[in-house]
Amino acid sequence: MLTLLNLLKDGRFHSGQALGVALGISRSAVWKQLQHLEAELGLTIHKVRGRGYQLADPLTLLDAEKIAVSTPGWPISIFDSIDSTNAEALRAVDRGQTAPFLVLAERQVSGRGRRGRKWASPFAENLYYSLVLRIDGGMRRLEGLSLVVGLAVMQALRKAGVPDAGLKWPNDVLVGDKKIAGILLELVGDPADVCHVVLGIGINVNMQATDEVDQRWTSVRLESGRICDRNVLAAELNSQLRAYLQRHESEGFSGLQAEWEANHLWQGRPVSLIAGVNQIEGVVQGIDNQGALRLKVNGVEKVFSGGELSLRLRDDS
Ligand code: ATP
Repeated sequence: MLTLLNLLKDGRFHSGQALGVALGISRSAVWKQLQHLEAELGLTIHKVRGRGYQLADPLTLLDAEKIAVSTPGWPISIFDSIDSTNAEALRAVDRGQTAPFLVLAERQVSGRGRRGRKWASPFAENLYYSLVLRIDGGMRRLEGLSLVVGLAVMQALRKAGVPDAGLKWPNDVLVGDKKIAGILLELVGDPADVCHVVLGIGINVNMQATDEVDQRWTSVRLESGRICDRNVLAAELNSQLRAYLQRHESEGFSGLQAEWEANHLWQGRPVSLIAGVNQIEGVVQGIDNQGALRLKVNGVEKVFSGGELSLRLRDDS
């Protein structure tokens, strides 16, 4: 099916006969595959008598060679469709694949957010990206790591034409109040000895519509008004991640604390911090040198950390 898509991706018209010859199949088999492409991948294909078939929008598929330009030491696996790039990355660790390595997909059928939430992942529109690192006996290297990833994603987005991309603790990337990227770190092994951490990143790149997201969202295309080449963005993300991870390793999170705070969209804002059934009202002061949230609660500064916490702006803010 993807061979057919590769023939169509230029956005030009192709006759059923030419497609059949290129694929070595009959015209009716071409027709069936086209219907399958539309149903399975949600693509729109124009059919015009006498001219043939044309993709409604030209398509650029992910290309490992282009993505690897800045980080040749990070081997890349690209899937047409996968449950979740994080899930595949964890399976690869289990199979003994040597880190660092990258897993990307054109779509995810069970893309995941925090606490079992779903990440909308339509075909060939966005980036679904997981980088696996091996961490040897260094709890310090895990401190604030998801915030560091947020900085790298934010900088890659700014380079892609989204100058207003900013951060929301702990690891969302927003433009104003709209989510443009999500980050999900998953860890296997013993953090005090040897472990692998999967840095899962979903970035809305060319998505213009979806009925799968129940909060305000945006994409690079919606913000910049231009189609964004996902291969260029992924290569930029690689180099930003490499640079920030190196700084994190040499300076620890404290070296990045001020930069993170300077890009925190909710600095000084009144918020509710939700921890399961509990809710704490406070005003954001910033983060500490391990990436924990500093909140002024009833006039006293308190520090909060942990994967189960969610921050919401207070209605009166
Ligand atoms: P938290 O503040 O706890 O992180 P969150 O709603 O941002 O809350 P995440 O787990 O980070 O939660 O992300 C999952 C949520 O993001 C989903 O429940 C959905 O509301 C939203 N979402 C899903 N897919 C997308 C997408 N492609 N773009 C933007 N937002 C999405």
